[in-house]
Amino acid sequence: MLTHDELGIVHLVLNTDCNAWDLAPTNTSPGVCRFCYRERNRVSTDANTVRRVIDRVRAESEAHRCVFTGGDPVMPYDNHLEIALRHATEVGFETNLHTNGLLLSERYIGLRDHVTIYSLAVDGPDAETANWFRGQGYFERFLSNVEFLTADQRRLAFNTFTTAGSVKELPRLAQLIAGVAQQTDVEYWLISQYRPIGRANTRKAEIYGFERDDFVRAVDDVRDMVDGVAIYAQPTRAPEDQYPFRVWVLADGTVTADLGSVAAPRNEVLGDLLVDGFEPLVRRAFALREQTQMEGIA
Ligand code: SF4
Repeated sequence: MLTHDELGIVHLVLNTDCNAWDLAPTNTSPGVCRFCYRERNRVSTDANTVRRVIDRVRAESEAHRCVFTGGDPVMPYDNHLEIALRHATEVGFETNLHTNGLLLSERYIGLRDHVTIYSLAVDGPDAETANWFRGQGYFERFLSNVEFLTADQRRLAFNTFTTAGSVKELPRLAQLIAGVAQQTDVEYWLISQYRPIGRANTRKAEIYGFERDDFVRAVDDVRDMVDGVAIYAQPTRAPEDQYPFRVWVLADGTVTADLGSVAAPRNEVLGDLLVDGFEPLVRRAFALREQTQMEGIA
C-alpha cells in the first residue's frame, strides 16, 4: 500500500484533447493556449475500465485526492466523466476538476454532487488579457461560471498562466479572486510561468518567456492580497529543479510519471496498472526518479 505521505494526490486523465482549441484567437493573440502541450486524445476506454482503474488506485494507495485533468475533462462528448467522478467519490476520494469551464454549465447537473473542488483557469482580470491567452469569449464564460458556482457555494481554486505583460495584471486578478473568496471557499491559486520541460521551443519562449526573478517577485507581491487562499508559484524550471513527484493515471490503466528530468520530452510511461498493479508501478517510478536525481548530481 502506498502511504499518504508517498502519494497524496493522483491525476486521472480521461482524455488528452481540449475543446478550447475551437475558440477564435483575439487579434493580437499568437493563438489559443499556444503554451499548452496540446495532444490528440490518447485515451481509449469504457465505463467499466474507468471504474476498475479507480478501484485499483484506491486499493493500493492512501491518496486522498483524485485530480481530473486532461486536456480538459469537460468535453462535448461522453468521456465517462460523470461515471468516473461518481465512482471516485463513492470509494472515498476527494475530487478536483481542472477545467477551462467552457462546457461546465451544460454538464453541471451530472457533475455537481461528485466534485469537491473546481479548479478554473483564468489568466487575467479582464477580457483583453484573459482572452488573449484562451480565446474569444473565454473570460465572459469564466465570470458566469464563477457566478453560478459561488451562488451554489461550491469550493473553488484558480489556475493562472503568465507572460511578461500579464504578470503585471496579477494585483487586479488578486482583487478579483479575493472578492470571490469572500463569497465562497477558495482553496488555492496556482500561478505558473512558461516551462519548456524537455520541449524547448524558441517561438513559444519568445512569446511567453520572461525572467524567473520577475515572476517570483510578482507572485510574492500579491500573496497578502488574497486572505485565506494558498498561493502556489510554478516558475520556469531550471535544470536543477526537482518538481514534486506526480503520477498520472490514464483512464485506460496506463500509468505515467514525471521523473524529474527537465530534459525528458514527456512523462515516463510505467505500465498498465490493470496488468502490473498500481503500487509496483509507482514504486518503480520512485526508483527511476532517484536514479535521475543521482545522475543529475554525478
Ligand atoms: S484550456 Fe488548458 S488544456 Fe485546453 S488548450 Fe488551453 S491550456 Fe491546454
